[in-house]
Amino acid sequence: MTDQAPADASLKPLPLSVPFLHGNEWQYVKECLDGGWVSSAGAYVEEFERRVARFVGTKHAVATVNGTAALQTALLVAGIGPGDEVLVSTLTFIASANAIRYIGAHPVLIDAEERHWQMDPELVERFITERCAWSNGRLMNRQTGRPVRAILPVHVLGHPAAMAPILETAAKFNLTVIEDAAESLGARYRGTMVGGIGAIGCLSFNGNKTMTTGGGGMLLTNDDTLAERARYLTTQAKDDPIRYIHHEMGYNFRMPNVLAAIGCAQLEQLPGFLEKKRRIHAFYCDRLQHVPGLRMFEAAGDVECTYWLSTVRVDPATFGASQEDLRQELERQRIQSRPLWQPMHLSRVHRDCEAVITDVAERLAAECLSLPSSLELEEDDLQRVCDAIEALHKRCAGGRAAA
Ligand SMILES: *Cc1c(COP(=O)(O)O)cnc(C)c1O
Repeated sequence: MTDQAPADASLKPLPLSVPFLHGNEWQYVKECLDGGWVSSAGAYVEEFERRVARFVGTKHAVATVNGTAALQTALLVAGIGPGDEVLVSTLTFIASANAIRYIGAHPVLIDAEERHWQMDPELVERFITERCAWSNGRLMNRQTGRPVRAILPVHVLGHPAAMAPILETAAKFNLTVIEDAAESLGARYRGTMVGGIGAIGCLSFNGNKTMTTGGGGMLLTNDDTLAERARYLTTQAKDDPIRYIHHEMGYNFRMPNVLAAIGCAQLEQLPGFLEKKRRIHAFYCDRLQHVPGLRMFEAAGDVECTYWLSTVRVDPATFGASQEDLRQELERQRIQSRPLWQPMHLSRVHRDCEAVITDVAERLAAECLSLPSSLELEEDDLQRVCDAIEALHKRCAGGRAAA
């Protein structure tokens, strides 16, 4: 692109995904402040846990300071530790892989499938059959000699991973399934909400997620023992709360009450948020599906996708411009967009990890662009995004197509 004009400051900025706080947030937070209950004890934490558990359909929920802490806690309570191996999606936000490393375990990075961009269950099978051995009820990586203990599928962009084959493989080889549902609260796989399908599910309430507490997370499970242990470990493993006796090294991972208050107010609005995200995606599909070289993200037939971020795949040869050209053009018009994450097997932090790689995640990272998906966006705003995209296509490929 040769047009390098600076962004037009008179245009309203259209953000990718920012918080929408127009419910009872002020009222509930004020209650916390007026009563002095701002920290990690208080009625809102338990209320928030009860409500999230009821919404997702799990028996227990344990609130944490963020989603990454929920993942770390999930791995700890599943009994995974130093020297264990955990299969995780390579196409994810880095927190999923970091959590595995925090506890001294080793990620095995699994590439995505082409259609819905989630962990490819066939590659999980391939890793196990080609590189592992089953001995004494344990799955061992033949090369490293380390036990393979868990599968951590990430439901990226609001779309569930293919859980049936993942659960089947996990059952066959005695692996724990921990779902990273940070981006997909409210999504359903064959009728069941994500976060409640594996042994443990994890949510994030970071500011850019579907609903937010500013920063926060949640661990979900139906297992009484796992839930109790998660509560124990996230509150400094306090065995005697009067004399402060601790028999184990715990963590200060409990969500503060004032954040849980925001969470309660956000959860009341969540059905509306999910509806709005679907409408945003439907609008983009409607306007962009006929643009040559563009394909909107498509959900599988057996899922309910929440479209956390509406994402388009750009075929540069047909569209006339690359993902990065499009991103820059939108930026000049004060429209925020974002490529998918650098796949973990290319990240400086995790590139030495074992991996089962095709080229899918790399191509998706190079070709996909998430478009403004904030809950505040009006139809006019979405029109502006689509107009900008169409105009770029006409400018770059229009002449060629007409010739
Ligand atoms: C946001 C996110 C997390 C981490 O959540 P935080 O609350 O930011 O710690 C983990 N995994 C995925 C896939 C995410 O998108």
